[in-house]
Amino acid sequence: MIVLGIESTAHTFGIAILKDKEVLSNHKSFYTTESGGIIPNELKEHHNRVKNDVLKESLEKANIKLEDIELISFSQSPGMAPALHVGCNFAKELAKKLKIPIIGVNHCVAHLEIGRMLFPECKDPVLLYASGANTQIIAYDGGKYRIFGETLDNGIGNALDSFGRHLGLGFPQGPKIEKLASASKNYIEIPYCVKGMDVNFGGILTNLKQKYNSKKYSTDDLCFSLQETVFAMLVEVSERAMAHCEKKELLLGGGVACNKRLQEMCDIMCRERGAKSFVPANQFLVDNPAMIAWLGLIEYNSGVRMSIDDIDIKPYERTDDINVTWR
Ligand code: AMP
Ligand code: MG
Repeated sequence: MIVLGIESTAHTFGIAILKDKEVLSNHKSFYTTESGGIIPNELKEHHNRVKNDVLKESLEKANIKLEDIELISFSQSPGMAPALHVGCNFAKELAKKLKIPIIGVNHCVAHLEIGRMLFPECKDPVLLYASGANTQIIAYDGGKYRIFGETLDNGIGNALDSFGRHLGLGFPQGPKIEKLASASKNYIEIPYCVKGMDVNFGGILTNLKQKYNSKKYSTDDLCFSLQETVFAMLVEVSERAMAHCEKKELLLGGGVACNKRLQEMCDIMCRERGAKSFVPANQFLVDNPAMIAWLGLIEYNSGVRMSIDDIDIKPYERTDDINVTWR
């Protein structure tokens, strides 16, 4: 089956084409800024401006004609409403024009399912989902994808970006912080915030911004200390979820998981407990339409059907609200 997937939960507008498990194209346009964060109306304008070109380029890359598409899948939840609307409306428009079925999927679950698709030996992982807006430790348990731990305030990427903004860097700031951090090995103590299985970043950010403003610390040292602390928090919660669920696989997802230091820390933790960590290629870690197409396809194959007239965005839907019909 040939499926077209649309991702538009936040900064990325992307269209992928899959022929069953084969990713024919995974094309994206990424909203960036010179300085400052995402402005919702500009984001919506960006997605509307690029959507037709992204479609055209994705079809060309896949060497597929629009009429060959048999199923449309789009990211329905969770995300920023102005961005979600663009993807949802475009998906409906295409499904109506082509007279083919449409499926709306959950973006967080898609991160986990694309990992299982890419690594067949990774059958039942704990997902460390570390992205801009989301930070969740998710695993399949008792028939659902359950959130074992999560952020109580910002997503980890937003926290990194916020500190980067304070340093005067443009979005996305996370990769720039990784670069600055790699120049230091000097750990400066900052708060470590794990509460039960949850994490939060607000206090850490305030503390770091104060330290930066005091001009007593080097920027490299602050970036290094930020990474060491927040990644250790995520690895701790992931390890406890693995122990509790008796799972032997850790899967990474989300843009922050592109960070080499986070990947290394996960790998060390897994090796120490006889487990294995799986890291998809960057194009599948960041927000990507291939994972949306794939989840749409497996939902469809499990019998899920959605009505084009009733389908809508669900900006606040939670991972554990999803009825898992395909496992
Ligand atoms: P996503 O929302 O999953 O597409 O991820 C976007 C987030 O990932 C942004 O907050 C980026 O700053 C962050 N990010 C991307 N690459 C890296 C990196 N190498 N290190 C840390 N954060 C990163
Ligand atoms: Mg994401």
